[in-house]
Amino acid sequence: MSERTDDLVLVINSGSSSIKYQLLDPESGAVTAAGVVDRIGEDNAGIEHHADGETTERRSAVADHTAGLRLIFDTFAATGHDLTRSGIRAVGHRVVHGGEVFYQPTLIDDDVVAAISDLSSLAPLHNPANVAGIESARELLPDVPQVAVFDTAFFHGLPDAAKTYAIDAKVAAAHGIRKYGFHGTSHEYVSGQVAELLGRDPAQLNQIVFHLGNGASASAIRGGHPTDTTMGLTPLEGLVMGTRSGDLDPGIIAHLVRSAHFDIDQVDKLLNRDSGIKGLSGVNDFRELQRLIDNGDTAAKLAYDVYIHRLRRYLGAYLIDLGGVDAITFTAGVGENSPQVRADALAGLSRFGIEVDPTANTAKGRTARRISPPDAEVAVLVVPTNEELAIARAAHQVAESA
Ligand code: AMP
Repeated sequence: MSERTDDLVLVINSGSSSIKYQLLDPESGAVTAAGVVDRIGEDNAGIEHHADGETTERRSAVADHTAGLRLIFDTFAATGHDLTRSGIRAVGHRVVHGGEVFYQPTLIDDDVVAAISDLSSLAPLHNPANVAGIESARELLPDVPQVAVFDTAFFHGLPDAAKTYAIDAKVAAAHGIRKYGFHGTSHEYVSGQVAELLGRDPAQLNQIVFHLGNGASASAIRGGHPTDTTMGLTPLEGLVMGTRSGDLDPGIIAHLVRSAHFDIDQVDKLLNRDSGIKGLSGVNDFRELQRLIDNGDTAAKLAYDVYIHRLRRYLGAYLIDLGGVDAITFTAGVGENSPQVRADALAGLSRFGIEVDPTANTAKGRTARRISPPDAEVAVLVVPTNEELAIARAAHQVAESA
């Protein structure tokens, strides 16, 4: 690992039972070290730390996020870099929900921490973990600027017609109920990369971006500004995901409560953890789903068909919303790695100028690339997302102007 760390940014992504991190150069994107602490709160927790082409693994109980962050810092120190001494430029924290309050990368102080904590009712599974990560990092690095980068920020300016749920307006206003959208850092980064790749002014482009990972979302973007997105008040709405249902008839919830005597925690678990691809097929990893389909598993095939059907529904909706599209882009684990999903999502749409070149689509590659024929009206692209780099750049910029 290089001796100098004072231009680097530490990016921290705290989940409910894990902390992912990267130490990287916000200009070049070069990653000095990266890793994950997982199973926080369990006895068999541990860290996997990658630096200088080597992997360090330790397993032991990690009581909470403070202990998790301390383990990260100890591992840095044991592999030659004491971050508390050598200094870094900034810490960038991924924060899931910014509510109506935060729509820009924000320098963290006590008030900001309190406000992120207050938003926990909108994101009970995410914001408390984000706050725990922030508080621990501030304790360990009291002199380093800490910046919050919000997953909802890119979608803050959604048009009223797209962000408003058709429920009693007084109830919605009283409880902050609107479409917020998530994965914003990824949608913003990827759509910016598309404009660069095409050599076009982002202000002139109509784009649809499919972020298809374990969580999945789509967005319609006109001239660099989103006009709609699939996730809503929470990351549950929209596309079918690894373990989340995406869209469903809200009446199903009342039915489960009334007729099946589900309580609210059971409903939450059903829709967030036991639904989606997993609920329909028994597996949530797309590679396993594909293996099951290859072996003739009919439940897996149905899960896949439901997944593609939902994708195409939103593709159609966003094509109309935008009044035509210049670029359709796939990103994240499934979007970047499954030629089958990309081909099936866009099959039979040549009359709309949408075509996928089979050779380009199946060619191996880890870089941003075009997979539509060169003369096709709509550019279809695969662009690897890099939320850590986007967070590092935002944190660096805020730290420089602080
Ligand atoms: P992410 O949340 O972006 O890390 O994406 C995770 C998802 O990507 C999981 O469902 C993986 O199964 C899926 N994935 C990763 N690699 C591949 C691959 N080569 N082919 C299909 N799906 C993949």
